[in-house]
Amino acid sequence: MRIDIMTLFPDVVGDMLCESILGRGQERGYIRVECHQIRNFAANKQMQVDDYPYGGGRGCVMLAEPLYRCWQHICDEAGGKIHTIYMSPAGKVFTQKDARRLAAEHGRLIIVCGRYEGIDERFIDKCVDEEISVGDFVLTGGEIPAMAVADAVCRLVPGVLPDEECFINESHWDGLLEYPQYTRPEVWQGLEVPKVLLSGHHENIANWRREMSLERTRIRRPDMRQK
Ligand code: SAM
Repeated sequence: MRIDIMTLFPDVVGDMLCESILGRGQERGYIRVECHQIRNFAANKQMQVDDYPYGGGRGCVMLAEPLYRCWQHICDEAGGKIHTIYMSPAGKVFTQKDARRLAAEHGRLIIVCGRYEGIDERFIDKCVDEEISVGDFVLTGGEIPAMAVADAVCRLVPGVLPDEECFINESHWDGLLEYPQYTRPEVWQGLEVPKVLLSGHHENIANWRREMSLERTRIRRPDMRQK
C-alpha cells in the first residue's frame, strides 16, 4: 500500500507516520507514505496557494491549480489515476469499514488535506473520488484527519501488524467494542484484575471477554449492530 498525502505541512504528517508500527511497516516495505508540499506546485512566483472566496465572506480558499498540478504530478509518476480522498468535515464519516475497504480495494491512495476555508470545489469535481470526515466537528486543517485515515488503513495491510488477530478482536471489527484489558501487576492501587483472566482457562476467558464486549457495546454504543 502506498499513500501520497498532499499538504501544506508535509513534515508534520511525515514525521508522525514514520514512528512506531507504521515506521517499521515502511522500513520493511509493506507500506509507503509520501508527503507532497502543495506550495511547490504554485503557479506564480509568490508561491500562492489560496485566494479570497468568490461571493465574499471571511477567510481564503485553496486554489484549484496548485492542487491539480500536485495531484497530476503524483498520478503521472504512478502512470495513471489514483483513488483520491479529500479530507472534509462535509464528507462521509470514516469508520473501520471504510478502513477495511480502502486497504482491500486500493494499492495506492492520494489524500488531500485542506486548510483555511477549504478548497475550490472544481478540484473536487475533477479529481476527488470520495470526501471523508473524521467526525462532526471542524479542525483547522486536513492533516490530523489524513493521519488518522492513513494510520487506520496502513495497520490493516498484511505484514504491518504481526498477525490478523491483532485487529480482528479489536473494537469495531465485528460490530462490537473490545472487552477491558489488564496487565501487570495483579493488584494496582487496591484494584484487582478479574480472577478469570488469571485462571489460564482459555474457554472461560474467551466467554468472559465476549460477555464484556456485548455488555460494553450495549451500554456505550447501543447504536452499533451487535452480532
Ligand atoms: N469551511 C469548511 C466547512 O465549513 O466545511 C471547513 C474548513 S476547515 C477549517 C479546513 C480543512 O480542515 C478542510 O478543508 C479539511 O481538509 C480539514 N478538516 C476540518 N475538519 C475536518 C473533519 N472533521 N474531517 C476531515 N477533515 C477536516
